[in-house]
Amino acid sequence: MWDLLVRGGRVVDPASGLDAVADVAVRDGRIAEVRPHERGAGLAAEDAAEVADAAGRLVTPGLVDLHTHVWHGATYWGLDPDPIAWRTGVTTWVDAGSAGAYSMDGLRRFAAELARVRVHALINVSALGLVAETGEHHNLDNLDVDTAVAVAARHGGFVRGVKARIDARTVGRHGLEPLRRAAALARRLDRPLMVHVGYGPPTIADIAPLLAEGDILTHCASGCPTDLVADGRLTAPARRALDAGAVFDLGHGSGALAFDVLEAELAEGVRPVASSDLHARSVHGPAFDLPTVMAKLVAAGAGLPEAIAAATVRPARALGLDAGTLAPGAAADIAVFDAEEGRFPVVDVHGSVRESPVRLTNTATYVDGRLLPPCAAEPPPPWIPLSGSQRRAEEDRVGATRSAVRRLESPEDFDEPFPRAGS
Ligand SMILES: [Zn+2]
Repeated sequence: MWDLLVRGGRVVDPASGLDAVADVAVRDGRIAEVRPHERGAGLAAEDAAEVADAAGRLVTPGLVDLHTHVWHGATYWGLDPDPIAWRTGVTTWVDAGSAGAYSMDGLRRFAAELARVRVHALINVSALGLVAETGEHHNLDNLDVDTAVAVAARHGGFVRGVKARIDARTVGRHGLEPLRRAAALARRLDRPLMVHVGYGPPTIADIAPLLAEGDILTHCASGCPTDLVADGRLTAPARRALDAGAVFDLGHGSGALAFDVLEAELAEGVRPVASSDLHARSVHGPAFDLPTVMAKLVAAGAGLPEAIAAATVRPARALGLDAGTLAPGAAADIAVFDAEEGRFPVVDVHGSVRESPVRLTNTATYVDGRLLPPCAAEPPPPWIPLSGSQRRAEEDRVGATRSAVRRLESPEDFDEPFPRAGS
């Protein structure tokens, strides 16, 4: 007997090499069996307590977003993941440096443990984390490696790596010293280092020599660094980082996706992780959510299965997470989408437009085999500027949420008696 059977969808699970019409059975919060239809009949509906018909839909592992900011109510960038997860299929959220040593305990207790989704963290090398818009490295007293090691040790597997924003504004006059300390911290924890790149200095040529195999270069398709891609080719330092085993991660955010850079990287053989860098300033656009970022990756030339790999198995492996697959025994984190085919315009942060041949609209999201309930987001905090169209979209969303509540008041609503307690 199964608790849930997701039947007849196109199941794409790159970790298992599966792309076929199949049934997915769940028992005790775990994937119990996945049976492709070509191997005979599907799984029997009678054997399941609940059956979800996914015919004509796309079924993937719950998506894994490698770069997000979920320390809401405590930082400049933070947002609550649950109001976004249920409508996007993202079941694993990696918070990228919102908390440093001083607030890791708070991120865990007041954001991660209260969320319905899975949350992991990268510890910021600055003990201040991302409480403010920038400047966390301006006072090096806050970048104490011993303190960060001690805090990370208390949090075991919750802390999956280290984060450092390395751009001119964030490092101030300290140049590469914040990066050196972040690298030292990552080596001592034996975990990957995620480096945010932007307007330098430091440049990619400065940063790349400090990256080790498995470290993550986030904002990899940003138009901001001047020496990431040149004349449609990876620059020598970017090529060196790639060849040394650095993971290239999109980290779309509010300013880090340029189609010309991404297209050059794909042509050069980069297979990036698709992450949203979702935060209070990117959730209303231009990133919106991870399925939108995946559609942009497809628009830039990657196939849909490749985009799914970039948002499931690849980010999971980058941090050694037990997520991103529908293999039997895995946690039953499942995303179901309407994968509409057509020509859908998508835009990068510089206003360049491409057409995606697919648009992903999430129709159901399960964590541990349980359907995430719809849930409305809080209004954006006062320091987040919204454009006129972003404000109107926000008002529409609030209005639609209110009008979703229907009273039972027409005569047909009373054609049978309401159930009474005890009857
Ligand atoms: Zn970020």
